[in-house]
Amino acid sequence: MDPRALFEVQRLDTAIDQARHALAHLPELAVEKSAAEKLGALRARIGDLMREQGTLESELASIEKRDAEIANHLARLEKQMKTVIAPREAEALQHEMRVLVIERESGDERGLEILDSAATTAEALDEARRLEAESAEALALASVGVRGAEEAARVVIDGLVVEREAATRSIDASDLQAYERLRSTHTGVAIAEIKHGVCGGCHMDISASEMDAIKRLPVDQVAECPNCTRLLVR
Ligand SMILES: [Zn+2]
Repeated sequence: MDPRALFEVQRLDTAIDQARHALAHLPELAVEKSAAEKLGALRARIGDLMREQGTLESELASIEKRDAEIANHLARLEKQMKTVIAPREAEALQHEMRVLVIERESGDERGLEILDSAATTAEALDEARRLEAESAEALALASVGVRGAEEAARVVIDGLVVEREAATRSIDASDLQAYERLRSTHTGVAIAEIKHGVCGGCHMDISASEMDAIKRLPVDQVAECPNCTRLLVR
């Protein structure tokens, strides 16, 4: 087993793992997500405003319909008034007409309020639609950014994979299998360097006596970290 050759594979595998993790967590993805959320919120607001507009329009239509009914009714009562002789009957008619006039006036008032609200809603809708167009454009741009960043990241990963292929060529299949097994049980790191008396895999100190034992190992035997059992490059 050639620990140096394996360590080079490890270096490339770690780089590939990191590049894949980076690909899955591109900052461009967060930008795209927030642009999509913003657009979604604007579209929901446009939906709300349109519903509000519909409600106002239908209320206004029913006021107008009632207004026409009242006008007809009043015309009928006025005609009737001309033929009435009994004062009590005339009084009753006048009362009925007054009630209708009051209803018409309050309808007119409500109608003005509705027109006011409808104008405000229409303005808000215009603004929301303007922002929606802006937001859709921002999302499209963000998506282009994501595609570009993904492509660049994939090019890097593909390059690393090719390098790794080349680096494994000189290594025995059984050594590679042992390495892969260790990698799968040791969070992706099968072989590490000892730096300043610390295992690069588990970051635990290797004592002076453990270092001595490692140094005394035969050249063809690969050292193991006494803490994490990862292979060590001496
Ligand atoms: Zn260790």
